[in-house]
Amino acid sequence: MNEPDDTPMLGEPFECVERSAVETLRELGRYLIAVNDPPWSSIADRVPAPVTVVPSHDMELAKLDLDVEHTADDGAEVVVGFGGGTALDTAKYLAWKRGLPLVQIPTITSVDAGFTDAIGVRSEGRVRYVGTIVPEEVVLDIDLIRSAPARLNRAGIGDVLSCHTGLHDWRAAVDAGEGIAWDDAAAELGASLLAELHSVIVDIRECTPEGIRWLADCYRRIGAACAALGHSRFEEGSEHFWAYAYEHATGAHHVHGELISFAVVALAHVQDNDPEFAHLVVSGAGVRAHPDDLGITREQFVGALVGLRASNRVWPTSPTSPSMTPTPRSTSRRACRCAREHSVINVS
Ligand SMILES: [Zn+2]
Repeated sequence: MNEPDDTPMLGEPFECVERSAVETLRELGRYLIAVNDPPWSSIADRVPAPVTVVPSHDMELAKLDLDVEHTADDGAEVVVGFGGGTALDTAKYLAWKRGLPLVQIPTITSVDAGFTDAIGVRSEGRVRYVGTIVPEEVVLDIDLIRSAPARLNRAGIGDVLSCHTGLHDWRAAVDAGEGIAWDDAAAELGASLLAELHSVIVDIRECTPEGIRWLADCYRRIGAACAALGHSRFEEGSEHFWAYAYEHATGAHHVHGELISFAVVALAHVQDNDPEFAHLVVSGAGVRAHPDDLGITREQFVGALVGLRASNRVWPTSPTSPSMTPTPRSTSRRACRCAREHSVINVS
């Protein structure tokens, strides 16, 4: 994938090619494939039989190790991830454990697991990161991705729109002398992604090839930037911390991008940070993010917000509350923390 010269870029994005998944699998040799189904069944009879098919599950470490054990003698030369977050993460683990090359074929744009190198697993009720692996390439089959439910593909904007509230929180924290130092290049990238997002709203809503292509490239750039920076401050702020607190308090599980889209609009109001922009993007892109649709009550929203303040982890900032500044923890892996956790927690 070639970038125009004026595209802000930080770090080294993964190799990504546009190609049919079927053609890719026909040329791979002996491959093991970790899948979500759908869509695996839709192409299985058109590709050479894999030496092993590993259905993705909840990324529990003990189950993953069983997968490794059961496939150890299958003679695979390459591991393929085919599907959403859990399939791509399962493939990462298997390739890493077996020392085999990895090819990732994301089939939806609601998660960025294909563009992150951190291997997240669940162990004793927690998400743990056990290693990293860089894929040989990420294959983008635009037609295949477009065949996924539009709602899931549209939700991909959540982790881009979060730059709106994330950058605001970061700036406020820096102005208050707290947290991670400001970085002009990262801020420029975040601002650029937001401007681009605004310009592709219709493509996102209609799930056009351009919209899918843009979302995938966004993930790619964000993943590379987080790796280069060692943190995800430009795209992760109070909206994510609120979402974590809300999910922890209620036990609710949502499509990550839908929950984050709601949170950006809501927290932009709290920040007094151009909430109209956030609302325009979310509604224009047709993302399902209204609290009534998501089943989020006012009490739950406020409860999670107050809980954040009480825990002193982060607080959404506004011009009228300069003393309440966010102090998110830094990240050190390629992936943004949100993406790492949610690609594990949310099944595709
Ligand atoms: Zn996220």
